[in-house]
Amino acid sequence: MNQNALLEWYGRFSRDLPWRRTRDPYAIWVSETMLQQTRVETVLPYYARFLRELPDVASLAEATEERVLALWSGLGYYRRARMLHAAAKAVAEDHGGRLPRSPEELRQLEGVGAYTAGAIASIAFGKRAALVDGNVARVLARLFAVEEDVKSAAGAGQVWALAEELVTSVNGPAGDWNQALMELGAMVCTPREPRCAECPVSADCQGRALGIAGELPRTSPKRRPVTVKRVALVIASSSRVVLARRRREALFGGLWEPPAADGVDPRPLAAELGIEGALRPGGQVVHVLSHRRMEVAVSVTSLGKRRRWSPPGDDYDAIEVVRIDEVASRAHSTLARKVLAAAGVLPLAKGHRAGLRSPSK
Ligand code: SF4
Repeated sequence: MNQNALLEWYGRFSRDLPWRRTRDPYAIWVSETMLQQTRVETVLPYYARFLRELPDVASLAEATEERVLALWSGLGYYRRARMLHAAAKAVAEDHGGRLPRSPEELRQLEGVGAYTAGAIASIAFGKRAALVDGNVARVLARLFAVEEDVKSAAGAGQVWALAEELVTSVNGPAGDWNQALMELGAMVCTPREPRCAECPVSADCQGRALGIAGELPRTSPKRRPVTVKRVALVIASSSRVVLARRRREALFGGLWEPPAADGVDPRPLAAELGIEGALRPGGQVVHVLSHRRMEVAVSVTSLGKRRRWSPPGDDYDAIEVVRIDEVASRAHSTLARKVLAAAGVLPLAKGHRAGLRSPSK
C-alpha cells in the first residue's frame, strides 16, 4: 500500500485542530479522552477551557472532583472525567508528574485503553504504537476488505494487526500516520458514502476493487436503547433552585440536578421531599444515552422560605438551595440543563431544543 500518498495527503489537507499544534503529552491525553464518543466541534470549546483552567498534570491532580466535573459539564460520559482525574493523581504520585512513554505503561493508568495509549505514545512520544478507533477500523476494513464484524474479537484482532503492521512499515512519523488514518476516516472514507474519487489510497483499496466498500465495516445491529421513565421536581423561586448531587456510584455520579426518581407520578418524590405546595406540569424532556432513552416528566413547585432539605431516595448524597446564576458553575449534565430549561429556570443550551416538549403535548 502507498503509505506515502496518505501521509502526503494528510500534510496538505488535514484540519488545523488545536491538539495537532502541540506535542504536550498532557494536552494530547486530555484531547483524546474528550474525543472518545464525542464530535470534534463539541470538544473544541471544552478542550480550550479545560487546558486554560487546568494546564498540566499537577493542576489536574490537585483540582477537586467538583471542579473537574464542572469543566466537563455538558460533554457527557462523565466517567471519563473522573478516570482522567484519578489517573492524573497517579501520574503525579508515581511518575513525578510526567506521563509514561510506552503504551504498556500508559495502559496501567485508569481510563487509558489501547486506543488512547497508542495515541499518546505515537503522537506525543513518536513511538511506533498502533491505534484503532471507529474511523481507523472503518478505513482498514475497507482498504483490506475485512469482512469480519470489526467489533467481534476476530474482526478487532484483524484490524489491530493491520494497524500494527502499517505503523511499523510507514516511512514517516508514527503519530502523523495514525492521525492520517483517522483523518481519512473522518473526512473522506466516511460511514455512509465514502468519497473514493478524492481518496489518496483508492488505487490500493480492496473493498473498492471488490465493489463492497460501502458495505464495510460489517457490524452487528445496534441494540435499541431501553426507555426509562422518570419524574423530576424543579423547586424554584425567581432567584434560587433546589439541586441534589448524585452519588458517585450512580449514573451521572457527582453531578447536580433537580431531584428526580424513576416512575411517572411525581407525588411520592414530592412527599419524600416534604413538599406541600401544588405541582405544576413543566413539560417532558427526552434525553438519549448510548443504551437508554430517558423520558423525564418535569413538575415545578415554589421554593418558599424553607432552607433545610434532605436528599431523597438512594441516588443522592447532598441537596442544596443554589442561586440560579451559580448553577452553570456547578457540575451538571445536559439532561439536568434540559430539565431546568423545561421549567423556565435556565435558557436551553444551543442544539438541545429537540429534547423538549411543552406541557400541553
Ligand atoms: Fe475508503 Fe473509498 Fe478510500 Fe477505499 S477508496 S479507503 S472505501 S474512501
